[in-house]
Amino acid sequence: MIKGIRQLVACAAAVVAASVAAQAFPTRTVTIVVPFTAGGPTDTVARSLAQAMTKPLGQTVIVENVAGAGGTVGATRVKNAAPDGYMVLLHHIGMSTAPALYRKLAYNPQTDFEMVGLIVDVPMTMIARSDFPAKNFSEFVTYVKANKTKLNLANAGLGAASHLCGLMFMSAIDADVTTVPFKGTADAINALLGKQVDFLCDQTTNTTGQIKAGTVKAYAVTSAKRVPTLPNLPTMQESGLQGFEVGIWHGVYAPKGTPKAVVDRLTAAMQVAAKDPDFVKRMADLGATVYGPDRITPAAHAAHLKAEIEKWGPVIKKAGVFAD
Ligand code: ASP
Repeated sequence: MIKGIRQLVACAAAVVAASVAAQAFPTRTVTIVVPFTAGGPTDTVARSLAQAMTKPLGQTVIVENVAGAGGTVGATRVKNAAPDGYMVLLHHIGMSTAPALYRKLAYNPQTDFEMVGLIVDVPMTMIARSDFPAKNFSEFVTYVKANKTKLNLANAGLGAASHLCGLMFMSAIDADVTTVPFKGTADAINALLGKQVDFLCDQTTNTTGQIKAGTVKAYAVTSAKRVPTLPNLPTMQESGLQGFEVGIWHGVYAPKGTPKAVVDRLTAAMQVAAKDPDFVKRMADLGATVYGPDRITPAAHAAHLKAEIEKWGPVIKKAGVFAD
């Protein structure tokens, strides 16, 4: 009896301690895990966001790159982290494509995480090495079709946004090209600059600088409308690829079981960050759109993730692409 009461008291004390810790969150550095290499588009968003969340959280926010397997290694790392809010994940559309791409995925994106909120939507660009022969998108498509056995298409691994875009492109033009996976598109762009690969579909958050500097050739954007910062680039749709539209949405995830008070604190910090003039300007300069406050919530994030899993699952299954 006494033992039972002791256990009950200990248990109640632990609950109170956890709740006090949740209320006080954060008392130390918060880490945002990026599931791709440093210097790439997801990393760029994360580093800007980390800076903008530092002030509202009152603690330093750092970025850790845990790259590999199209973003699934980093997501697994956060799934297995302590559910206390000190390690969270910034991931993109790959959270919704991985379940269809991986037969053995170490996590369920919908049930192994607490959604914290959506943050930015980023268009992609089709780019190629600077000496690629095509002068415009239509010539690009013709050239790729005619030389499909010789060309290499870079991506950041199965489950990456660049992988999805490449898959959609090859299906749209009905040509299969050899794909070369990297651990992030920072590495893929380096290979493109070194002319070891031929083309790549990547977020504007990574390609804008290279396009403006003329170090790569750019052919089209994947958004429904042209991107204000790259006004000369046509959309895929206006270039004849009907229905080709893909936006790379990003969200923040905490491990399942993270206390609601902690998640709420992180969401509130993201809401403040989304209005930070430096963050907003940096994202706009890179062609990214910061979501409004109604999308930076756990509920909006969960609803979007569900809709995207339902959208991409059948597309990927139809393409017959998967990994064990
Ligand atoms: N842009 C990459 C992707 O294709 C990821 C990255 O390096 O941030 O998903």
